[in-house]
Amino acid sequence: MTNEQKSKIALLRNKGATFTEISKELNISINTVKSFFRRCKGEVFCKSCGKPIVQPKGTREKKFCSDKCRMAWWNSHRDDVNKKAIYSYKCCCCGSKFQVYGNSHRKYCSRACYIKSRFGGAENV
Ligand SMILES: [Zn+2]
Ligand SMILES: [Zn+2]
Repeated sequence: MTNEQKSKIALLRNKGATFTEISKELNISINTVKSFFRRCKGEVFCKSCGKPIVQPKGTREKKFCSDKCRMAWWNSHRDDVNKKAIYSYKCCCCGSKFQVYGNSHRKYCSRACYIKSRFGGAENV
């Protein structure tokens, strides 16, 4: 098996492809795919390029072979990342911008603004 094939297998696997799908995609027998995974059990492949990653012992598991690959992957998955990101809203009361995690329905930057808007500033009367 060529290195290119190995990388492709790992990439497909990272995407969640089954052994059958991989064997069809690369036009190799399913047994070749299976034995490939049996041989490199426990090995981790770069999520971006599919290269095997040498895991340094005692540290957190690496998911990318290099910073370059990590950046490339995050760039291509920016939409996924943004779904969990911080959202900017404009306060309905004072108009100042505030940020919240996730897609919340907050309308006011603070409780003070909420009360002010709701009760027309009755608090101060
Ligand atoms: Zn890589
Ligand atoms: Zn406000």
